[in-house]
Amino acid sequence: MTTPSAGLSFASAQPGSPWRVYLEQIERVLPHLGPLAEAVETLRRPKRVLIVDVPIETDDGRMAHFEGYRVQHNLSRGPGKGGIRYHPDVGLDEVMALAAWMTIKNAAVNLPFGGAKGGVRVDPRTLSLKELERLTRRFTSEINMIIGPDKDIPAPDVNTNEQIMAWMMDTYSMNVGHTATGVVTGKPLALGGSVGRNRATGQGVFFIARETGRRLRIPVEGASIAIQGFGNVGRPAAELFAANGARVTAIQDVYGTVYAEQGLDIPALARAADAPGGVAASGLGERIDAQAFWELPTDYLVPAAMENQIDARRAERIRARVLIEGANGPTTPGADDVLAGRGITVVPDVIANAGGVTVSYFEWVQDFSSFFWSEDEVNRRLEQILVGAYGRIWDIAQHKHLSLRTAAYIVACERVLDARRIRGLYP
Ligand code: NAD
Repeated sequence: MTTPSAGLSFASAQPGSPWRVYLEQIERVLPHLGPLAEAVETLRRPKRVLIVDVPIETDDGRMAHFEGYRVQHNLSRGPGKGGIRYHPDVGLDEVMALAAWMTIKNAAVNLPFGGAKGGVRVDPRTLSLKELERLTRRFTSEINMIIGPDKDIPAPDVNTNEQIMAWMMDTYSMNVGHTATGVVTGKPLALGGSVGRNRATGQGVFFIARETGRRLRIPVEGASIAIQGFGNVGRPAAELFAANGARVTAIQDVYGTVYAEQGLDIPALARAADAPGGVAASGLGERIDAQAFWELPTDYLVPAAMENQIDARRAERIRARVLIEGANGPTTPGADDVLAGRGITVVPDVIANAGGVTVSYFEWVQDFSSFFWSEDEVNRRLEQILVGAYGRIWDIAQHKHLSLRTAAYIVACERVLDARRIRGLYP
């Protein structure tokens, strides 16, 4: 017997919310799961949700309060794994969806992790460095009881970076009384980080685009590429595309969009983009408006910023041949249908941006063994794991005439539900 998830008191009722998008993606995979579908209710609800108040003292001596979250969606296959986001729009619905997508991603790539995610509802640009450190340390202390190297391992996400991971690692270590490097990944190298981690998600986007191009005969070399987002994911991806003979014709960040038909000078843009005003203030390329970005004729379109960027209406106007999801959840199910109807291949987030969590897994393994690998070894193993996982997803999509997203969800849901079946129900 199952009880319907609509009864979840903490789930958002908002149509189109990220959690609703995730639930719809699960509904779409159900007919392909055979008897395992009976246990699917476990995927329709998070295992554990922690909401915390994060009070800090501001530099001018006032008290400020922020809301923080850590959601562990599913732990059937191992400890929780997923990033920490600092953004003014962070909320429970979004963090639940991001945690669930981590469950799917980790299983699709066969990493021995469950899915988790966290965040603080804050615009970090309004904080000084000291305030950011106090916020990070207090947030870490508040979620301390549910994280740990064998419980749940955070990592960077939107607006968080290796310095924030260093503060999290230090705070957790102080609370437990010993240095625990493996509690977070995406750390600085000096604290047990892995070479290649900060470029790993972009590296993975590049490998997956290259593999897609090989299969669809749209080689990345010589292809035109438009990328939304020029951060942890978008920037290294752009650099790799440009270094491998592609023309990166458009980049959009939160401040604006730049375009150059012959290809933007990506190294110069990378040097300029951190200044106030982002890519639009770089003086490179031509400035175009935000909607025009989505309508550019391009071989590859890579959304690598935020979720819910491409709905059915926008999907009607997209003129790309292939969409590679660098961000988590950028495409709604309605948009998936429109894009499929228009013959545009969508490579889903759960494989396209899995390079980051794969190298996070390597970092965690290296921390446990206190033995560190070379960059060549990291990249070789990353390529082997991602390309192998993608090949399997591609073949299922081809044989069953399904979208790559549904094929990836089949692989992932089978692994999670099978683990759950073998473990049995406690007590
Ligand atoms: P980031 O903070 O490093 O960069 C985000 C980029 O997106 C910035 O350039 C920002 O200006 C831009 N941006 C933000 N809002 C925008 C908007 N409304 N319109 C246009 N541009 C906007 O974040 P990130 O770590 O690169 O993460 C980006 C996406 O990739 C997120 O969906 C994240 O969950 C996902 N992701 C990140 C990682 C990782 O390793 N960091 C791994 C997998 C998936």
